[in-house]
Formats: sequence, C-alpha cells, structure tokens
Amino acid sequence: MRNIESSMRSFLTDTFGPRATFDEMERKVYGHDIGSIPSMIKPFLGRTAPDAVVQPETTEELSKLAARARDMKVPLIPRGKATSGYGGVVPTRGGIVVDMRRMASVLGLDTQAGEVRVQAGMTWQALDRALASDGMTLRLYPSSYPSSTVGGWLAQGGAGFGSYQYGYFRENVAAATVVFAGGEIREVSGDELDMFSEAEGITGFISDVTLKVQPLEDIEVVAVSCDTPGKLQGFMTSLLSSDAPVWSVMFINPRMAEMKNRTPAPACDAPQAAEVVLPSTYIVVVSFRAHVAEQVRPLLAEIAGKTGASTLSDEIALHEWENRFRIMQVKRLGPSLVPAEVVVPVAQLASVMSEVESKIKHPVLKEGIIVRHGKGGEAEAVLLGFIPADERSLSYNLMFGLSLSIMNIAERHGGRAYATGLYFSGKADGVLGAGRVEKLKAYKRRYDPAGVMNPDKVVGSGVLPLMVKAGGLFEPLVRLVANRVASRVGERPGKDSHGVPGDVAWYAYSCSQCGYCVDSCPQFYGRGWESASPRGKWYRLRDIIEGRARWDQRLVDDLLVCTTCETCDLKCSEGLPIESSWMKMRGELIERRKFMTFPPFEMMGAALASQGDIWAGYRKDRANWFPADLVEAHGPGTKAPNVYFAGCTASYVENDIGIASVRLLDAADVDFTYLGEKESCCATPMLVAGKWDLFERTMRRNIEAVKATGADTVISSCPACDMMWRKVYPEWAERLGIDYGITAKHYSEVLADKIADGSFELPGLSDDVTVTFHDSCHIGRGSGVYEPPRELIKAVGGAHLVEMEHSREEALCCGSVLTLIKEPPVAADIGEVRLQEAVDAGAEKLVALCPCCEFQLRVSAEKKGTPMEVVDLARFAASSLGYDFPDPEPEVQAQWAVFEAMIALMTPEGFAELMGSMWPELIDAMPLGMGPMMRLAGKVPGALQLMKPMFPVLFPRLLPLMMPKVMPVMLERVAERVPMPDYMREQMADMMPQVMDNLMPHMIGEVVGLVTDPMIEYLQS
Ligand SMILES: Cc1cc2nc3c(=O)[nH]c(=O)nc-3n(C[C@H](O)[C@H](O)[C@H](O)COP(=O)(O)OP(=O)(O)OC[C@H]3O[C@@H](n4cnc5c(N)ncnc54)[C@H](O)[C@@H]3O)c2cc1C
Ligand code: SF4
Ligand code: SF4
Repeated sequence: MRNIESSMRSFLTDTFGPRATFDEMERKVYGHDIGSIPSMIKPFLGRTAPDAVVQPETTEELSKLAARARDMKVPLIPRGKATSGYGGVVPTRGGIVVDMRRMASVLGLDTQAGEVRVQAGMTWQALDRALASDGMTLRLYPSSYPSSTVGGWLAQGGAGFGSYQYGYFRENVAAATVVFAGGEIREVSGDELDMFSEAEGITGFISDVTLKVQPLEDIEVVAVSCDTPGKLQGFMTSLLSSDAPVWSVMFINPRMAEMKNRTPAPACDAPQAAEVVLPSTYIVVVSFRAHVAEQVRPLLAEIAGKTGASTLSDEIALHEWENRFRIMQVKRLGPSLVPAEVVVPVAQLASVMSEVESKIKHPVLKEGIIVRHGKGGEAEAVLLGFIPADERSLSYNLMFGLSLSIMNIAERHGGRAYATGLYFSGKADGVLGAGRVEKLKAYKRRYDPAGVMNPDKVVGSGVLPLMVKAGGLFEPLVRLVANRVASRVGERPGKDSHGVPGDVAWYAYSCSQCGYCVDSCPQFYGRGWESASPRGKWYRLRDIIEGRARWDQRLVDDLLVCTTCETCDLKCSEGLPIESSWMKMRGELIERRKFMTFPPFEMMGAALASQGDIWAGYRKDRANWFPADLVEAHGPGTKAPNVYFAGCTASYVENDIGIASVRLLDAADVDFTYLGEKESCCATPMLVAGKWDLFERTMRRNIEAVKATGADTVISSCPACDMMWRKVYPEWAERLGIDYGITAKHYSEVLADKIADGSFELPGLSDDVTVTFHDSCHIGRGSGVYEPPRELIKAVGGAHLVEMEHSREEALCCGSVLTLIKEPPVAADIGEVRLQEAVDAGAEKLVALCPCCEFQLRVSAEKKGTPMEVVDLARFAASSLGYDFPDPEPEVQAQWAVFEAMIALMTPEGFAELMGSMWPELIDAMPLGMGPMMRLAGKVPGALQLMKPMFPVLFPRLLPLMMPKVMPVMLERVAERVPMPDYMREQMADMMPQVMDNLMPHMIGEVVGLVTDPMIEYLQS
C-alpha cells in the first residue's frame, strides 16, 4: 500500500468538495475509536492517522470511491460513529476514513411488513424518532443508541436491549445494499449477509440496511435483586424456562452498583431521573411491553420468590431503565477503564462471575445482557466488564492484561470474545466459527483482491494478534503482577498540565469518546467535522496534556467559538461539565496565557469599558428607548422591590423588546424600577471572550447599581442577562466575597404567575396565528425556564402554539453569538437548521425571547432566504394589548452590516488590505528616518529584496511607534470600509488604538507576511 498520491487527492476534492479533508489535526481526530490503548501497545498499531477523511452522501459516491481506491490500492476504513472499542475504525496503514454521517435518512418504511430501509449512517436514536412518528419502534438496539449507527452495528455485530426476545442484530436484518471494492453495488440477503455482519467492513461498505421493526408500545420495567451469583443464575434460568413474554433483560454486578452510587451527579441542570441509592447486589432489570404487564409482573414476582431474589422498588427499576444508555458514567471514577467483553452461556454465569471475582483483585464492574436464543440456540449472557484504572500511569499496561484474564476465564467456561476487530483477529475462529472465517477469507479474496477494504481487521494477521496470543499465554504471570498494582477509584483532579486545569484534564481522560454529544453540538453540525465537537475537543486536549500538541490559536478559537448552549452537558453519557470546562479554559487562555480573543470582542470591550455597552452607543443614550409615559411610575430613581434590567441589545438595537417588556410588567401591576444610565452590559460577552478582568469590573458595577435602588430582585428580558444575575454573578460574588442577596427572574415567569392566579389577562389578537417558540439555550438549559414563555403565548387569544421537532431541553441552538462573530457563514448554516424546523412545524411566526437569538435568526433568515418571521415574545404578547412597536429589522440589518464589515476588517487579511490603502502615510510615519531610507532603497534594484528577511523582525517593533502618527488616516480608511453610525465614528479615535494595541501583537506576524510584497511593490513604483 502507498500513501495517497496527488491524483487521489484531486479525485477526492473533485468528488467530495468540502466533504473531504486532508487537514492534519482533523485526520488525527479520525484515527481512533473509544478504546484507550496502553502506551506500550500503541507503537504497534501502525499508521493510525488517515491520509484523508471523506463524508459521502450517496451509494454512488461510495461506489466511485471504492473503484478508485481499488485501482490505486488505497485503504478504505468505514466509520460509523466509532463507538466500538476493537479498533475496527482505526487505520493501520493510513488511507481514507469514510465517515458515514451524511448517509442518515430513512429510505422507506413498510409498517405492514414491519420493515424499514435506512441508510447506514443513521443513528439508532434518530431512526427510532423517525419510526415513532409512524407508530413503530425498534426491535432491539445497542446501549450506544444515542450515537452508534445502523450500519456500524451490522458491521460490528452484537446484542443489545431487546436481544432477550430478538437475539443478535444480524437475525433482524432482511437485506443490505453493499458496495464492493471495485465499485459494484448489490443488495445482499439471506446467508450472504454473514459476509457483512461482524465483518467490520473488510468485504465492502454497507450503504443501507433493511431491518425488522415493531409497533410502538409503552415499555414497563421490573428490577430484582440477587445477592449471590448463584441466585442470579437461578433467577435467569427460571425466567428462561418460564416462557414469560419478556422483551429485554439486563443486569449489573454489586461492584457496578456501588460505583454507580459514587458517580458524581450530571452537570446539566435539566430535570434528571430521581437520584436513588442502589443496593450492592446483582440488580436485574426486566422490561416488557405494557400489554403483557399483567401477565409478566406476577410471574416475575413468583420467579424471584422461588429463586431467593427480591423485587426492588419501582423507583430503582425506572432509574436504571432511564439511565440505561449511561453505562460509561462510572468512567468518571477512573478516569480510564480497562474493558473486557465476553459472551458466556447463561448456564455458566455464576461460575464465570465467581471466578472473575476471586482471580482479579481490582473491582471489576460488570453489565450483562441476556440473549435468549444465542448463537448455538442456547441462552447466552453478553458480559461487559470494566476495571477502573488510569491510562496516564505505566501500570495501565499491566492492568490492561487483566482483560485477557477475563477472556481466559470465559473461554474456559465455554464462552468467547465478543468481537474481533483489530485486536482480537487472532480469536476470529472462536468468535465467528472456523467455517465462517474460511468463507469470509474466500469472499474477501474474490471481492477485494487488492485488500483495500479495512485491512488488518477481523481476519488480519500481524504483530497485534501475536501480542494478544502471547499475553494469553503469560496471563497468570501478568495477573499476578497486575493484581499488586494499587488501584484508586474516585474523581481526583490533579495539577494543571500544559495550561489545562486539573479538573478539566481529569474530564478529558474521563470522556469515553462515546459520541453522544457529537450530532447535537451546533459547532459540529455547523462545521461538519469532529474536531469541532466536544468529543473531538477532549481528544485534542489530551494531546496537549501529553505534550503531543501545543496550544495554538486554532484550538483556542475552537474552544472560544462554543456557543455555550449546554446541549452537550445534557447529552453526555457521563454528565461531564463540558460547557463550563470550555468556559474555564477561556479565562485560562485569554486572561492568563494571553492568547487572542475574537477580534470583535476587543471592539466591544473598548466600548464597554468606556460607555458600558457593547454596541458603542453612548451611555447618555442608554435609556432613550424607555416609554415616556412610564417614567414617572417606573423610570430611573423610582423605588420598587424589582429592577427591570434591559441589557444592551434591547437598549440600543432591538428596542421593541425593552418597550414591550415594561409595557407588560406595567399592565400586570408589577412594581418595578429601571436603572437607566446606571445600567451596564451584563458582561456576558466579556465572560465568553475570556476578558475576565473587564467582566468582573462590570459585574461589580451592576450589582452596586441594583443595590443602590434598594431592590432585591432583578427581572430581565434577555436570557444572557438572566443567566448572569441568576447563576454567574452569585458564583463570582461568592468567590470574590461580595454580598449578593439578589434574586433573578425572567419577565415571563413573573407574568405566568400572574396569569395563573388570574390577576393578569391578555386580550386576543385580531387574527388567529400559528406560532412556534424557540427556547433560547440560556433561558432553557441555562436557567431551566421552559413553561412560562409558553404560558404567555397561550394566554394571547388567537395564538396557536406548535412545537418544533426539538424543543425545551432538546431545543437546538440558534448559532449566536460566538459563531456569528467568528464565522458568519457557519452561523447562517446553524440558524437555517433552526428556522427550517419552524417552517416544518407549520408556524407562521417564530417567537423568541432572546435579543441575540432574534438577531441571529433574522440575519440567517435574510442570508438563507428562509421565509420565517421572527417576533419577540414580549412584543407578541404586548401587541395584543393594542400597542405598536418600532420595527427592529432595519436597525438589526444596519448593525449587522457594521459587524460584518468589522469582522472582515479585523483579520490579518483585513488589516493587510487596510495598510495597503495607506502606504504613503505608513512610510512617512516610520521612526528614526527610516521612511526616506526605505524610499531610497526602493530605487536601488534588489535592495528591498535583500532587506526582506528583516521585515518580520522590524515591523513588530516599528508598528507601535508608527501607530499614533497614522491613526487619523487609519480612522478615515476604517470609516470608508465600515458603515458606522455617527456615534460610533465619533468614538473610534478612542477605541481603535486600544483595539490595535490588543490585537496587533497576535496578528502582526501574519500581517507582515501579507504586506511585505505589496509594500516593496509600492516603494519600487
Ligand atoms: C456506551 C456504549 C454502549 C455500547 N453498547 C453496546 C451494546 O449494547 N451492544 C453492542 O453490540 N455494542 C455496544 N457498544 C459498542 C458499539 O457501540 C457498537 O458496536 C456499535 O454498533 C458500533 O456502531 P458505530 O456506528 O459506532 O460503528 P463504528 O464503531 O464506527 O464501526 C464499527 C465497525 O464497523 C465498521 N463499519 C462501520 N460502518 C460501516 C459501514 N457502513 N459499512 C461497513 N463497515 C462499517 C467499522 O469499520 C468498524 O470496523 C457500545 C459502545 C458504547 C460506547
Ligand atoms: S455548549 Fe453547545 S456549542 Fe458548546 S460544545 Fe456544548 S453543544 Fe457544542
Ligand atoms: S463528552 Fe460525554 S458524551 Fe461526549 S464523547 Fe465524551 S463522554 Fe461521550
């Protein structure tokens, strides 16, 4: 095999366009799966970084790729969501990783036949969601349901929830469309499916799968406790012989129960399943369909009584059921886990469990799934074992050997390894059966003679299978030593490492790479590549911690650009505090390590420091929006228990939000006052920009301003302001020893309470209208306010509320503010996804309550031409009171034009272009008579070329000295490029020098590279 050649690169670029990447960092991210391979084994894996990653969209593209790869002998490595841990997706010879994520649609559903045809890259969760809308559901699924793909499970093989009734996944597949190495596309079914199931892509790509599904029905669960392995086996055996119509049976061992009790609570604030304490026993969770509940429940009680098991509370049963996908949560206590996955006959369950307990001195956490009719027809238990360990220590290499101990025990009891992949290809005969292995080899020789499809997997030979074999032979010795390694369990953040705080570093290793957080992260679906997802970022942080990579502006930017939507916190299988970890990194990177924040934040910061707002409006104009007729009752200086906090955007750009909010509060008889010019920005932008010094100063100012009024409650309309007053200010105040004592409320909460007690009503609209509500991330996942805005909409007569596909905790992020500032085109893509959901829901208007969401959605609607009117909630509700409001659209578009031009200007290219427009002034401004000297050098042929290498050294020193002299002309040139309002232009002379001082040290290197030749050209002309 050779590295890919330039003709292959051109082919990939032509075929896949932006869906192909050759980026070094990205390729690294696509070079692993969930397995944490010991450091001593890693060097034997081969060339794990692929040469390219592509994301096909159609079977035809797969076919074209397969044909070209065969001709050029380039390895192809299919990748679902990389949630398997056997190395199947890990390249060993470079090649092309084929990420199936874009092939994720349902192709056809036949409810009568109970079959669905689906593209291979669709996740189980997405498929189940699609099926539910047609009253159908999955027959079985793996516990990686939120992230793993249909094609991935067929290729990997396995059992999961529902396997008690339906067996292994392969038995539930009717057909698959496959693509062979030469490009041939064909449907396979019957016995030929065996050449793709558990074959891990070595015979071809699975492009789509037709699988059996079942009618949707509620599931009920019962949990029982068995205090010994013998009783566990007794319970299972009785259940199996009872003919009880059970759908799924899973269990955990006492060690797992203990560890689950010790796992830290999830980071997200969304409602969680009730916290329960599990008994330290074998806990079996049996699930069945609601219509057989009356038959199954007494049967289970009888079996439990007969076998010495006891029925646990419904609370425990539900808790275990609801958390069934969170099997990796115990990894937080490791931060690594040594895995061992085996299949054993149920008849041997007790012996296997007891022997593992007696031979391995470390806690072995086990989870099991029962397959009623296993491979040979007998009942089998799939056992997933974990031993908490720390991959950062050398002893991890030894601990890893214990997985072979578990495998040996299983094999001695008639069991086998669960799968082959890269690491256990030497055990293929045991896993697949010798006959099938021979057939597979022959099939591969026939359809992939060049051996390009996922080389070295399943039937591959090489150093790794040999090492596993040797490890097996020396297992007793390895076990003896590994058992002596001191193991510690529990979250124990250590010291900061390479700029990564200790707790964040711990989470980076705790992250199991399960991928639950990937698809719903707006950064991921906006940019399309894993490096932008939380899973990708944790992986990149590990590289930093281990010194394999260094901090650079790209990683800093990727952490900064997180929209702080907190979706990942909700999705994370381990409940890791992801968003707050990135937040912590912002302070560390910008404030402490002096990396550059996003340039527009420098302009906002300058405006905030001077006038208290981010839009560069004058402080004296901050209260201009406040309705004159309300000044006497609620204006600045009035006394009240509540302060209405408008925030910058309502004050300067989308005035209708502020006006409508105070109209509603007034109409509802809420006693409130307003800070007027004493109000400052809530400073969220400075927090997320990492400019924490300015954040703290502004926060102190706001707290003092509210305290000075005597009020103890702040009512906000902006969710970011709300989150500051509700969560962030109190946390900072406590840390800084500031007496806080302020309660935060959103106006929708205040009004919903009044609507509920009948003291406030809204009249109807003149025309009926269908609206949908966009939960802003900060008011929803951030502050937990979901129902009050909906109550307010419902209180408006004539308003019909419809929900989008993703709402409440699941709501999609709009893509603001950070993406909008950093990469406007990506923001527009993210915004479009949300707007389309509103269109699909049949809404005429999208009601939102966040000024930033509204801004972003309006800009996205304009850019993408999506026909959706965005209306502010307060405005919508207050309109029914008969008020008219100013249209914010012209101001939004005008302000966006400023921002867009400013964003383009504040880049190395933008600054280089700006400098190119002022060469005469720049040359004249050079100190120490250098200007005339440079002009003279321009006349001497070759002189400037000779001086060229000095420019990168010279310019950074000269520029600060030149800046004051060129500032007036620079301001003129900036004004020509940015359509600024007058008040902004007036302040530019103060703001621009600060902005340049902060940005130039970071950008000058790049700028010099861009301006050197144009400057030489100018001097020579
Ligand atoms: C939290 C968690 C729970 C899990 N629970 C279970 C469980 O209950 N049961 C179980 O069996 N496994 C389980 N697994 C393991 C894993 O999730 C499954 O094996 C899953 O089916 C892999 O799907 P994937 O999309 O991630 O495939 P990947 O890991 O991406 O790929 C798996 C193999 O299939 C190949 N492949 C992927 N897609 C294709 C394709 N379209 N065409 C050809 N080859 C392809 C890959 O090259 C690789 O060799 C779990 C893993 C995690 C992290
Ligand atoms: S907070 Fe949102 S944008 Fe940031 S990493 Fe999590 S999901 Fe992605
Ligand atoms: S951050 Fe959480 S959800 Fe994402 S890959 Fe890691 S453990 Fe899984």
